[in-house]
Amino acid sequence: MNSSKNTVRGLLCALGLLLTGAGIAAQESPPPTNPGSSKDSPNTEEARAKSPEEMASVRILATGGTIAGAQGNPQGYGYKSGAFKVEDLIKAVPNLDKVAKLTGEQVANIGSQDMNDAVWLKLAKRTNELLASPDVDAVVVTHGTDTLEETAYFLDLVVKSEKPVVLVGSMRPATAISADGPGNLYNAVSVAASPEAKGRGVLIVINDEIHTARNVTKTNTTNVETFRSPNRGPAGVVNTGEVHWFERMDKKHTVDSEFSVTGKNTLPRVDILYAHANMSPDLIDSAVKNGAKGLVIAGVGDGNMTQPALDTLARHVKKGVVVVRSTRLPSGLVLRNNEINDDQKGFVASGELNPAKSRVLLQLALLETKDPTRVQRMFEEY
Ligand code: ASP
Repeated sequence: MNSSKNTVRGLLCALGLLLTGAGIAAQESPPPTNPGSSKDSPNTEEARAKSPEEMASVRILATGGTIAGAQGNPQGYGYKSGAFKVEDLIKAVPNLDKVAKLTGEQVANIGSQDMNDAVWLKLAKRTNELLASPDVDAVVVTHGTDTLEETAYFLDLVVKSEKPVVLVGSMRPATAISADGPGNLYNAVSVAASPEAKGRGVLIVINDEIHTARNVTKTNTTNVETFRSPNRGPAGVVNTGEVHWFERMDKKHTVDSEFSVTGKNTLPRVDILYAHANMSPDLIDSAVKNGAKGLVIAGVGDGNMTQPALDTLARHVKKGVVVVRSTRLPSGLVLRNNEINDDQKGFVASGELNPAKSRVLLQLALLETKDPTRVQRMFEEY
């Protein structure tokens, strides 16, 4: 790893490239147009600029990830997640201070592959505390992309405010050629400062798209166009800070959610098991033996698995383990009592929720109940 001086120099170089690129684009392209605005009021960054009194107060909570990452060699692979602090991220984005009044704090500085219950609880409690204050209008969370969808959905279920909460990450580290972090952060702050972002639940902003926490998933290992909402599509689009909204979510979240982290210092253990041809029940037994109170199966097709796995799960259900059938497929719903008799076996069908999201909801559900009928109701409502 380079010294921190070198990584900061690398960041400034990358920014220099970005700024030069932006300058060239401005000279060569026609003036930006906006289908929703009249010719007399162009929707340019300049036209949208607000006075300090009009600007929203946005607090950035940094957790690490590639967006704060640095690589030793700009052309090469490999980098260290969470190398930069929140102040560096804010400074790295030209004109961000014209979008909102910004303050930042570091909640963690980890690659999101290491995200855990303790950081989730800290982040959720801090977000609730900040949003309860009249001095904060919105929160932006910078985060690694690997588990971004899980953190976003966790916050969606436990944040008790209608004020916007936007998660943002990047696929390329700050020092990479064509780093995507600065543009993503600019758009994320713009969405958070947008009055129409209120009451939409927790959002993620990346690659010029806005997605709901519930629907979004990471679909590509390295491409910047990796976040998709396979069953429903994005919640909106955002380009150089100009926001266009699509439909609102019809599922419960934030202020309508029954889940709370107040007074909670731990969450129940829930494991995910991946179904495949010839799946044996051994890992199911092992998960329960090691303390799992809930199991999510990334099933084949419509949440299916081998007969020995089904029989073993049904046996654990009788002892109070909650079993959710999700799917390893990237889209589609897992239907109740379709291929498998869930009523008879006491299983829960995940509906639209993928295994990672099902795990988050089941962790919170288990704080309330072990009754599969109640848990099924939660999977239909959230
Ligand atoms: N491993 C990184 C993380 O999730 C990847 C990224 O941020 O894109 O922190």
